[in-house]
Amino acid sequence: MCPICFSVQHQPTSLTPCGHSFCKGCCARLLKDAPYSCPLCRGQVAGASPNHSLGGVIDLFLTMNPERAQGDKELAGLLLLYSRYRS
Ligand SMILES: [Zn+2]
Ligand SMILES: [Zn+2]
Repeated sequence: MCPICFSVQHQPTSLTPCGHSFCKGCCARLLKDAPYSCPLCRGQVAGASPNHSLGGVIDLFLTMNPERAQGDKELAGLLLLYSRYRS
């Protein structure tokens, strides 16, 4: 689960150096608003990198729970609309 949007993390991304992970979209929003800090530990964020091992687990989870993937697709669409609206 992503602690920002409370849904299954798509393309999970880990913040460095604290290592907390969020979905890619949420990380992108975090990195847009300086100063960057982790919403979980309030630590400074130097960057973000894809978390492939967690991504594998989530792919497996979505394979076993296809209804969650569906809901997340709708959410992804909403986020996309939201980001277009903001820019
Ligand atoms: Zn998220
Ligand atoms: Zn953190």
